[in-house]
Amino acid sequence: MGKRIVIALGGNALGNNLPEQMIAVKKTSKAIADLIEEGHEVIISHGNGPQVGMIQTAMTELVRSDPEKYIPCPLSVCVAMSQGYIGYDLQNALREELLDRGIEKGVATVLTQVVVDSEDPAFKNPTKPIGSFMTKEEADRMVAERGYQIIEDAGRGYRRVVASPKPQSIVEISTVHALVNAGLVVVACGGGGIPVTTQGHHLKGAAAVIDKDFASCVLAQQVDADCLIILTAVEKAAIHFGKPEQQWLSDITPEQARQYISEGHFAPGSMLPKVQAALQFAESKPGRYSLITLLEKAKDGIAGKTGTVIRG
Ligand code: ADP
Ligand code: MG
Repeated sequence: MGKRIVIALGGNALGNNLPEQMIAVKKTSKAIADLIEEGHEVIISHGNGPQVGMIQTAMTELVRSDPEKYIPCPLSVCVAMSQGYIGYDLQNALREELLDRGIEKGVATVLTQVVVDSEDPAFKNPTKPIGSFMTKEEADRMVAERGYQIIEDAGRGYRRVVASPKPQSIVEISTVHALVNAGLVVVACGGGGIPVTTQGHHLKGAAAVIDKDFASCVLAQQVDADCLIILTAVEKAAIHFGKPEQQWLSDITPEQARQYISEGHFAPGSMLPKVQAALQFAESKPGRYSLITLLEKAKDGIAGKTGTVIRG
């Protein structure tokens, strides 16, 4: 029986620059097509760290080149651009891979906005550095003109920091649903989604970045997926990671996951959000489960042969 699966792609699925991404998406598409070929419904989300960084830097350079002519590009717009550009590459690579296998299936990218709470405590304590380094003068100017929050980064210069609030809901969820139900492969919530806060019917772009693993967890719940697969650079999560007593984790219970989280086994900003997202999805409804594994092992993972699995 085919499952409904949300696949969250990590940085290694997309590479660090334009030519790398062109190559990486081919391999990524093979892993995804393997699951589609087995009859699963697939919804794809992905990270955007290097891509949004590149776009942000380019937009900043434009302002630097002629500050009278150009104004800084809001971060929400940079995220939207990254969704479009990554979706473009993924759509084409997947289309080609599916056609090579004789599968006629449309692939569509949905520019996805994700609602965050303007009162989220993360806004009071922005921690995520983004964009290129600035001089003291540029930094002062951005604070005065744009209200940016800036940190001095270990003597290397000044950098903007933004909040990483928790995703609450997906604005375009009914569009995603309609496309999935029509049999299309959907790419959604790229880069964790374009962060917005609600003001009545108005959606306001927020100066924030949403963790893609948490956004994928919300997406998986909202499309009523059976399984959330987080594909990354390791085959399994581990306890005592990188130490001599390291132990890879296969099937773990929610209780074990909670215990390992509290013991600090997973690094914040990398494995921790994955295990937290996997745990939250697995517990969100009976029968749901999460899998964390290597991109190349997606098929084996869904067959129960590898990866770290959390069942609710
Ligand atoms: P992605 O781009 O897929 O989100 P990240 O680099 O953010 O990838 O997170 C995956 C990385 O987390 C792994 O490559 C690994 O180096 C690191 N990591 C940190 N703690 C652990 C752990 N306990 N078990 C496995 N990997 C871990
Ligand atoms: Mg990550």
